[in-house]
Amino acid sequence: MIKIPLKKLMKKDAVFFDVFDTLIERDVSVPSEIFKIAGGEEFCESRKRAESLAMQNSPCGEATLEDIYGLLRHDYGRDADSLMQSELQAELTHCRAKQEVYGVYQQLLAAGKNIYLISDMYLPSRVIAAMLEKCGYCGYKKLYVSNEWGCNKRSGKLFALVLEQNGISPSGAVHVGDSIKGDFIGAIKAGVSPVLIGRKNRFKRFLHL
Ligand SMILES: [Mg+2]
Repeated sequence: MIKIPLKKLMKKDAVFFDVFDTLIERDVSVPSEIFKIAGGEEFCESRKRAESLAMQNSPCGEATLEDIYGLLRHDYGRDADSLMQSELQAELTHCRAKQEVYGVYQQLLAAGKNIYLISDMYLPSRVIAAMLEKCGYCGYKKLYVSNEWGCNKRSGKLFALVLEQNGISPSGAVHVGDSIKGDFIGAIKAGVSPVLIGRKNRFKRFLHL
């Protein structure tokens, strides 16, 4: 059961939400299961390795899906393109709204709050927007995805960019998310009040199982 302090959110004009494991989650035990569904056990391991290498290679620590599959092309050749399509399809098929958060989101929208979505993620924003639409989320002002802006939440810089672009003062916003580094500490770095919520299998994911 997730507890969200609705009163605290209602006090602010702008409410920021993380996307993955906050607004939506996948109906699998850990996110990397999506890679197994897309290409099997062996591919899953290669896909995870390619992602961490692509992140390491990037000066800002943010890789795109293209960067990741660019590395996978060395081993998978042309199959990499169809594997990428399978991954995107699996993401769309296996996402669902996190019900407790969905209810809060709708109440904030009905109250006229300005909602912004901010994600540290390698997927393109058009794919994430399609997943959000499938899960029933609409009415937000804008979706910001780290790999398209060259900065992330962990550093606090993506929050700063959202604040600046939309003329919002840090004290006028609150951010809801599930990641301690990205959502909680990152928001504090930008002067935004954070609300940390629970995530499925946090301990298992911490151990990278
Ligand atoms: Mg998250």
